[in-house]
Amino acid sequence: MNYDAWFECELGCTYPLNEIIYRCKNCDGLLQVKHNMDALKQRSPEDWKTLFEQRYMRTEYPYGSGVWGKKELVCPIIDNENIISMYEGGTNLFWAERFGDQLGLTDLWIKQCGNSHTGSFKDLGMTVLVSMVNQIMRESGDIRAVMCASTGDTSASLAAYASAAGIPAIILLPKEKVTREQLIQPIANGALTLSLETDFDGCMAIVQKLAARKEFYLANSINSLRIEGQKTISMEILQQFNWKIPDWIIIPGGNLGNVSALGLGFLMMRELGIIDKLPRIACAQAERANPLYRSYQTDFTEFKAITAQSTQATAIQIGNPVSIHRAIRILKEFDGIVDQATEEELADAAARADRTGLFNCPHTGVALAVLIKMVERKQIQPDDRVIVISTANGLKFPDFKVGYHNVISNQPPPTYLNLPHELEADYETVLKQIDNHLGS
Ligand SMILES: *Cc1c(COP(=O)(O)O)cnc(C)c1O
Ligand SMILES: [Zn+2]
Repeated sequence: MNYDAWFECELGCTYPLNEIIYRCKNCDGLLQVKHNMDALKQRSPEDWKTLFEQRYMRTEYPYGSGVWGKKELVCPIIDNENIISMYEGGTNLFWAERFGDQLGLTDLWIKQCGNSHTGSFKDLGMTVLVSMVNQIMRESGDIRAVMCASTGDTSASLAAYASAAGIPAIILLPKEKVTREQLIQPIANGALTLSLETDFDGCMAIVQKLAARKEFYLANSINSLRIEGQKTISMEILQQFNWKIPDWIIIPGGNLGNVSALGLGFLMMRELGIIDKLPRIACAQAERANPLYRSYQTDFTEFKAITAQSTQATAIQIGNPVSIHRAIRILKEFDGIVDQATEEELADAAARADRTGLFNCPHTGVALAVLIKMVERKQIQPDDRVIVISTANGLKFPDFKVGYHNVISNQPPPTYLNLPHELEADYETVLKQIDNHLGS
């Protein structure tokens, strides 16, 4: 039996993965990638684990990648020579021993997905999408460029993979709503970078219209190929824990593709018999961009798109998430919860955890703030194994970090403030300052 995968809508209409299509022609529903599970089940759970272990972080191209090491479960129909990989995945699972200790937890881990080629988890999905575009272009040549709307990280990732492949990239960004670091990434990679006077949802509306022209291939997460790569987050976490299931996973959510991917990865592992139960999932939103949280308050019976307000967690400043329905389905299946964090809570949580060796981006701050609330509510028990998904590298968000460690007149200083001291270049003065700090 052959490994195979295709796009499929809710009603069962199917399309090949190399067709340029994002919604079903019959019912307009989102398409999901489906696999020939019977073929995958021919291999025993033990044999799958052995295969994944043999490949993990080795050099045999492309299998050392955390994504392509699971190629059969991700996208079996791509020829290896069409794969554009930068050895994504394989990220550190940081044992947050000191931070956990402060919260009364013994088994707290931070999955550092931002330790990646372009500094965010977006690389996991983008390698799959750009590889497929590469394959389509080699087969038929119908695509002129690949494009996306972005809150900053998707565009950085798309630009990097597209330029590695030699494919033109078009990037639509909300003007002044991404960091300088995120803006310079696609520019450096040679992408056509369009900075629009709108928010992310406004960019998304335009890019969806452009996508009606098949010559512009859409790289947003409405395209399920990205979800297939991001699914490997769950597979990799399991692998790093010797295939033992954690109790809770906390993940920040904006467009809600990543929380959907996380769940789909676990469901696939369960179907293949690699695990026999599921973790619980908590999705963390910024209070200023919280449409999923509001829906959760109605037990998911209602959902209303909102206009997201400005938040430091810019990558999740989204009011009309494209993957809302699949995310709700996943959260129900995983007995999930949704919680939110204020601007102060997310900044303090990031800074507090930074004091224990991390360097958190604001979105990870949102997840950490929700973690603290769940511990306070005793929703998380002291010996629960908890994993926080850190979605980007803190180095991409210097204004967030610098802005925190700063005193603004007439405002109370932040709780974890640490200011540099400007001193004369004088030995005695320096020693005195050190003694003062350490307490002599
Ligand atoms: C994209 C992104 C998210 C949100 O992921 P979604 O799939 O949109 O929910 C969170 N954090 C960072 C840093 C991101 O780049
Ligand atoms: Zn359909």
